[in-house]
Amino acid sequence: MPSHPRVYATEAFVLRRTDFGEADRILTLFTPGQGKVRAIAKGARRTTSRLAGHLEPFTRTQLLLATGRDLDIVTQAEARERLDALRDALWHATAAWYASELVDRFLEDADPHPRIYALLARTLRLLDAGARAEAGTPDSAAGERARCVLALRYFELRLLDELGYRPALHTCAGCDTPLLPEENGYSAELGGALCPACSRYAQRRLSLSALKVLRLLQTTEWDAVPRLRLDAALQAELEGTLQSSLRYHLDRDLKSVNFLHAPGVE
Ligand SMILES: [Zn+2]
Repeated sequence: MPSHPRVYATEAFVLRRTDFGEADRILTLFTPGQGKVRAIAKGARRTTSRLAGHLEPFTRTQLLLATGRDLDIVTQAEARERLDALRDALWHATAAWYASELVDRFLEDADPHPRIYALLARTLRLLDAGARAEAGTPDSAAGERARCVLALRYFELRLLDELGYRPALHTCAGCDTPLLPEENGYSAELGGALCPACSRYAQRRLSLSALKVLRLLQTTEWDAVPRLRLDAALQAELEGTLQSSLRYHLDRDLKSVNFLHAPGVE
């Protein structure tokens, strides 16, 4: 009996895409209901293709897909939300690739995570709005950038949470005693902050300020997170702390993490 391809409709963001053959593209799509889906868009690189322009990175697209043996096949695509400001700003585009890459690396194919989908969509929108605000109001560009940096930290912390790796920030990850307002330690391996007594097992120190910001981000919805003014040292500590957990759980380095620190990207 001939097998008929199942056709399904979904919206998606493109997490990754590579050229294939003469004019095709292979896409890693992130969908709310099916999770990560690999698909081929035949002829999508031809300017005459009906798909061209609808499968760009950082674009929410409505798709019609046919299930294939290895790759699903894109039969229709229509862009619904283009985050163009984001694409035209190097720092913001790099941050968006970084967020997309984290999702790509952490999730298996066909493992639906609608909450991570919503988290990524919101983060991309925030970065797009940040790029727009920086371009439009040079006077407050530094404040807008700081807000985007904080949004990335929020994304990382909430992603860990959704993946089941929520860092302990209220009680010691080693002995479970409540953490006191003092300098503590942090261990990605043990799963979060460590009290001074357990800090001999810590990989890093965790300042009281960093602990407070992490707690705020972990327990506050983004819209209610105040516009914090964080000095460079505290920003670096927050980034390093979350990176240590992300790296531990990914068990390998992320290319775009390093790219975020490449000269000229700041
Ligand atoms: Zn302890």
